[in-house]
Amino acid sequence: MKPAPFTYVRAATLDDALLKLQEWGEEAKVLAGGQSLMPLLNMRLAQPRYLIDVNGLPEMTGVDWCSETQALTVGALTRHRELLQHPLIETHAPLLSEAAQYIGHLAIRSRGTLGGSIAHADPAAELPLVLTALDSTLIVRSFEGEHSIPIGDFFLGYYMTILEPNELITAVKIPGLASNTGYAISEFARRHGDFALASAAAVVTVDERGTITKAQCAAGGVAPNAITCPAVNDSLQGARTLRDFSQAAQQLENFIDPPDDLQASGDYRRCLAVELMTQAIGQAYARAVGTKEAWA
Ligand SMILES: Cc1cc2nc3c(=O)[nH]c(=O)nc-3n(C[C@H](O)[C@H](O)[C@H](O)COP(=O)(O)OP(=O)(O)OC[C@H]3O[C@@H](n4cnc5c(N)ncnc54)[C@H](O)[C@@H]3O)c2cc1C
Repeated sequence: MKPAPFTYVRAATLDDALLKLQEWGEEAKVLAGGQSLMPLLNMRLAQPRYLIDVNGLPEMTGVDWCSETQALTVGALTRHRELLQHPLIETHAPLLSEAAQYIGHLAIRSRGTLGGSIAHADPAAELPLVLTALDSTLIVRSFEGEHSIPIGDFFLGYYMTILEPNELITAVKIPGLASNTGYAISEFARRHGDFALASAAAVVTVDERGTITKAQCAAGGVAPNAITCPAVNDSLQGARTLRDFSQAAQQLENFIDPPDDLQASGDYRRCLAVELMTQAIGQAYARAVGTKEAWA
């Protein structure tokens, strides 16, 4: 199919993009990498009157590490491929680099952007999952000004977010990893490059005895959006064995209820999520204590 007619506009500056969004509101769509939007246009699931291309806007590009706040700022237009290769991301948010390798195929990773993946809000997308585990904050701009949104408050459900039609995600702020902290993502997809049936991410910090003192876990593909797992986090306090990790991951079962669909039954996804969470915690733990041993 071909898209419904629309007017294509390339924003000259960020202010220009924001002004147009303010003026056209719900009649406009922002074009970033186009990897999700173009299929939607072609299937006529989206029929905007205006397409505002924000590619190349300097305020939405670049990666910056602030040693004072110990936070990494990643521009919304950063492509998935850059997430894999950027030295500052590899150093300060390696989980983001690790997640990007699971996204689609090379052509998709070469065009798709960080901000596009977050705004599209696919429940199985890797980037919202790991940004949730990393406790990230989104920087959002509109004609009226800038504000920050903790990622945990951003998603409303399947492909739905709190972003207003006149707002743009310009960047993501990711806290640097504390010392003695490990991270991991684990996912299962039927074929390489497919969206995952389920996924899990874990960030854990240990004390000098190798006991977990802090954990931030997230699950993907098993709820309308990436979710944090407070019960898993709580039960990881004091954990240090594979048995502890597995018991903590079991907590997921109590608060996810994935529906059956063409890809898998809800029960299968639930079991998968627990197994993937155990793996992610195990690998994050191994990294935190500095061993190469796989704990799962
Ligand atoms: C075959 C295929 C396989 C894929 N596999 C995976 C996968 O395994 N995992 C995965 O996570 N993704 C996958 N994707 C999706 C891919 O990651 C997309 O790049 C991503 O979801 C959207 O990013 P984009 O930059 O292409 O956004 P676009 O397609 O340009 O935009 C998507 C939506 O976000 C809005 N938007 C874009 N940028 C902003 C912004 N800065 N502020 C506000 N709104 C914005 C747009 O208006 C639009 O509504 C796949 C895509 C394809 C085609």
